[in-house]
Amino acid sequence: MSDQAYDVVVVGSGAGGAMAAHTLTKLGKRVLMLEAGRDYDPVTETPMFNSPADAPLRGAPTPDKNFGYYDATVDGGWEVPGEPYTMADNTEFKWWRARMLGGRTNHWGRYSLRFSHHDFKGFSRDGFGADWPFEYDELAPWYDRTEELVGVCGTNTGLDDMPDSSPDILMPPPKPRVPELLVAAAAGKLGIPAAPMHRAILTRPKDDRAACFWATQCGRGCSIGAAFQTTTSLIPMAKATGLLTVQTDAMVRSVEVDAQGRAEAVTYIDRKTGAPRTVAAPVVVLAASACESARILLNSKSEQHPQGLANRSGQVGRNLMDSTGANMSAVIPALKGRPIYNEDGHTANHLFLPWWGHDMQARGELDFARGYHFEMSTGFKPPGGYYPEKLQGYGVEMKRRARFDYGSQISLALRGEMVPNADCYMEIDDAVTDRWGIPVAKFHWKWSEQELNQVRHGLATARDIFKLLGADVPDELPDPAEAIKKGGEIIHEVGTTRMGTSPKDSVTNQWGQAWDCDNLFVMDGGVFASNPHKNCTLTIMTLTMRNASWLAEQLNKGAIA
Ligand SMILES: Cc1cc2nc3c(=O)[nH]c(=O)nc-3n(C[C@H](O)[C@H](O)[C@H](O)COP(=O)(O)OP(=O)(O)OC[C@H]3O[C@@H](n4cnc5c(N)ncnc54)[C@H](O)[C@@H]3O)c2cc1C
Ligand code: SF4
Repeated sequence: MSDQAYDVVVVGSGAGGAMAAHTLTKLGKRVLMLEAGRDYDPVTETPMFNSPADAPLRGAPTPDKNFGYYDATVDGGWEVPGEPYTMADNTEFKWWRARMLGGRTNHWGRYSLRFSHHDFKGFSRDGFGADWPFEYDELAPWYDRTEELVGVCGTNTGLDDMPDSSPDILMPPPKPRVPELLVAAAAGKLGIPAAPMHRAILTRPKDDRAACFWATQCGRGCSIGAAFQTTTSLIPMAKATGLLTVQTDAMVRSVEVDAQGRAEAVTYIDRKTGAPRTVAAPVVVLAASACESARILLNSKSEQHPQGLANRSGQVGRNLMDSTGANMSAVIPALKGRPIYNEDGHTANHLFLPWWGHDMQARGELDFARGYHFEMSTGFKPPGGYYPEKLQGYGVEMKRRARFDYGSQISLALRGEMVPNADCYMEIDDAVTDRWGIPVAKFHWKWSEQELNQVRHGLATARDIFKLLGADVPDELPDPAEAIKKGGEIIHEVGTTRMGTSPKDSVTNQWGQAWDCDNLFVMDGGVFASNPHKNCTLTIMTLTMRNASWLAEQLNKGAIA
């Protein structure tokens, strides 16, 4: 066992782990961060300006580089070599893992929408899933602090699904693009509002980070720090306190407990040597991502915790949720033949369509309980993979037609809330271990009618918007069961160690503290009691900032010895 002294051992360096380490070190606590992936420095390793011509297959996606050759995920993806997971019969579940310092924050889309007062008490309203153990007002000041620290651009809209930030917290958003304004106008005719997307992108300089210059692909990472990733912000800031030690290539296997069943150490495999190591841990914070943290708990069986650590309720691994997803695209006649000008912006959409249906749901007019929003993809690019087939011919005339159609396609991507159901969960597959000898996760998944009805509604809405824009789209809609993305595919998996008010049906209390083990905390999306449609990561960081502050207070008071 190591003789180095830390107040807290944090597992993971992504949104949750880095925010935990940042908060704790700023409050004077000594932190050891254990990260399974390799060290990564976006300042020197980000291929921001490389040309597609310099990459194999012109940078196109391949099975081991799912989002293209230059994607920021230098280690990881839908498959991690030597680290499989298994699925039950009839389950299709996709699990994106990034094995690198900063985790998935090096690549994420940076959409950063607050949950609203609608989102914390869904069960009380419609009887599905579970309530959170607090209301929106409890998190509001922490959202402000997180948005300010992280740097989020957007606008206060006054819409009831998009709570306002306090004055001067948000950075100004970029201007909407022409195709986005067209969608906004068409959606407006259907009573659907449009709003600036909130994104963790700096539009003004902040600390050592520069403002976005609207020119490169955020998915490659951002060496100037404009796009938020923990490797250019929270981790260096925490290191600057002198209180953070980072150990990369440390694949945590289990949390060890003492005779009373309290956490006392963490065992990890040194990925460089394959040797197991154990480090003393007065307090453990698991932030390895929802399914990895649940896996660690389920693999931490002991006499005191025979079902796995913190699992007396049997809820670890249960209540697994992702966002729903479905896409629809159309070519818009009004966008054909427009002059080509610079419309780049910060990679993703500047406007989006927030959920507008709370009142309809309250009146019982919809056959699904929870909302969704539309993200948009527009801009000067060829209109879709089918296009070369339609573009027959050669020479000057073919080039003229291709230029004419350039930038005329719009895609609407639905992102919706699912309700947890008994068919969606993960457990340990005792028959399979990874290359480190650690038993792997096994997934079970089935969408319910709630999600299929929601997607049906979303596809009909997208079709109606496109029709108003004069697009040639079929009346007949795709089957929602075919159109809906696979479980896990939207990469918003949460809920596997949910928080609540009772140890009978939840894993942690409102502070992310395990009911069964007072010096063990979970600070990732595992603790979510529900999965509102507004992309989970801002709330992971906000909740972590709040809960790590509470943890530091308890340590100061000696309440967690
Ligand atoms: C392409 C893409 C687009 C996305 N877009 C958005 C978006 O626009 N908005 C949004 O809100 N979210 C988005 N997400 C999701 C977002 O990235 C995650 O919600 C967020 O990163 C989760 O944070 P986390 O700290 O729980 O996990 P991660 O960021 O995955 O970090 C977990 C870290 O723990 C490490 N780890 C795992 N297991 C172990 C172990 N056993 N021992 C030690 N370390 C371990 C991992 O290597 C990793 O570095 C996107 C994700 C992807 C991949
Ligand atoms: S578009 Fe802006 S935020 Fe995105 S990578 Fe380029 S500079 Fe960074």
